[in-house]
Amino acid sequence: MTSAELIEISESRSAHNYHPLPVVIHEAHGAWVTDVEGKRYLDCLSGYSSLNFGHGHPKIIEAARDQLERLTLTSRAFYHDQFARFCAGLGDLTGKDMILPMNTGAEAVETAIKVARKWGYQVKGVEPDQANIIVMENNFHGRTTTIISFSTDPDAHDDFGPYTPGFRIVPYGSAEAVRQAVDADTVAVLVEPIQGEAGVLVPPEGYLTELRRLCSDGGILMIADEIQSGLGRTGQTFACDVEGVVPDIYVLGKALGGGVVPVSAIAADRDVLGVIHPGQHGSTFGGNPLACAVGIAVVELLNTGEFQARAAKLGESLHSRLRGLLGRGVTEIRGRGLWAGVDIDPSLATGREVSKALLKRGVLVKDTHGSTIRLAPPIVVSEDDLIWAIDQLADAIHAMKEQ
Ligand SMILES: *Cc1c(COP(=O)(O)O)cnc(C)c1O
Repeated sequence: MTSAELIEISESRSAHNYHPLPVVIHEAHGAWVTDVEGKRYLDCLSGYSSLNFGHGHPKIIEAARDQLERLTLTSRAFYHDQFARFCAGLGDLTGKDMILPMNTGAEAVETAIKVARKWGYQVKGVEPDQANIIVMENNFHGRTTTIISFSTDPDAHDDFGPYTPGFRIVPYGSAEAVRQAVDADTVAVLVEPIQGEAGVLVPPEGYLTELRRLCSDGGILMIADEIQSGLGRTGQTFACDVEGVVPDIYVLGKALGGGVVPVSAIAADRDVLGVIHPGQHGSTFGGNPLACAVGIAVVELLNTGEFQARAAKLGESLHSRLRGLLGRGVTEIRGRGLWAGVDIDPSLATGREVSKALLKRGVLVKDTHGSTIRLAPPIVVSEDDLIWAIDQLADAIHAMKEQ
C-alpha cells in the first residue's frame, strides 16, 4: 500500500488523539528512518527522547533478542533472573536504594504520587486525605485522569472531570511561589527539571537547588520527573545533575526502554519507597523479564558515560548553530545538551508548518505549542548529519521569508 492509502486507513480507523505528520515509517537504524516509499529522514524527535541511543542500538537489540528467546513474562508473582540486576543497576545509576518498575511514564508518575501520599500519612504524619502536592504550570506528566487533573493545558484537561483533588499549581521557575504554596500538609513538590512538552523551558539557575533546600527544610519530598530530560539527553545522566541536585524520587521512563519496549520506574531510598507493601501497588507487566533485560542494557550504556559526553559535545554545536538563526526568523532558543526548543517568528509560520517544510527536506521534527519546534535527535547522530539538519531548518525558514 502507498503511504497515502495507509494514512487514510489510519485516520478513518483510529481515534484522532494525535495529528501525525504525513509520513509512514517502515524502518530505522541509528538516527535515520525510511518511509514506505524508500525516502530517508533524519530523526530529530527520537520518540520524544525515547530513542536517545538511536533506533536499533546493537547492544539493546542483542539484549532484547536474547531475552525474547528465553523468557518474556512471569508476572511479579515470581522472581525472574533479570529483575535483581535491573533494580540493582538502576539503583546504582540513580544512587538510590530501591526501584519500583512500571511500564509507561504516566504510570511511574502515578506511582510517585501514591508513594508520596502514603509517605505523607505514614511518615510525616499528615491527617487522612489532607495531603497536597505542589505542581507547576505548563507541566506535562502524562495522560491519566489524576495527572490531567493538574494539567494547565485545556486540551489535556477540559471535559475529563471530575478531577482528582490534592494538587496546588504554581508558576514554573519560581521557588518563591512554591514556598508560598507550601503548608503543613504538603508532602511533595513534583517538577520537571526542564519542561519538555511546554517547549523545552529551562528554569532559572538555582531553581532546582532552591527547591531542594525548601523540600529538605520542610520535610517534603522532591520528585523530579526526568522521563524526558533524563538518561543522557542534557549531557548529564539526569537534568538535576546540572545543579548537583538529588531529588528524593526520580521518575524515569521513555529512553529507559531503549526504544524497544515501554519501561518506566521510580527510584528512591528505603525510607521513602519502603512505605509500599504487598498488594498496595503493582502492574502485571511492570518489571517483566524483557523490560528488565532492555533496561539493564540501557543502564550499561549510560554507565560508560559516552552518551552523556556526546550529548554535551553535540549540544554545543547544536546550540551555537541555532544561535546563528536568532533574528533571522527565529525569536528564541532554549534547551540544554542535545535538546532544543526553537521559537519561530509566528508571523512567518506555525510550528507545524515548519515541521512540514522540514519533512519535505528529510528532517523529522515535531512542534510543541504554537510556533515552537523541538529538536532532540538520537545521541548517536553524527555531527555532520546534525549540522545538515540545522541547515535544512535555516533554508526552510529562509524560503518562508521569501514567500
Ligand atoms: C512523556 C512524558 C510523560 C508520560 O510518559 P508516557 O510514557 O507517555 O505515559 C511524563 N512526564 C514527562 C516529563 C514526559 O515527557
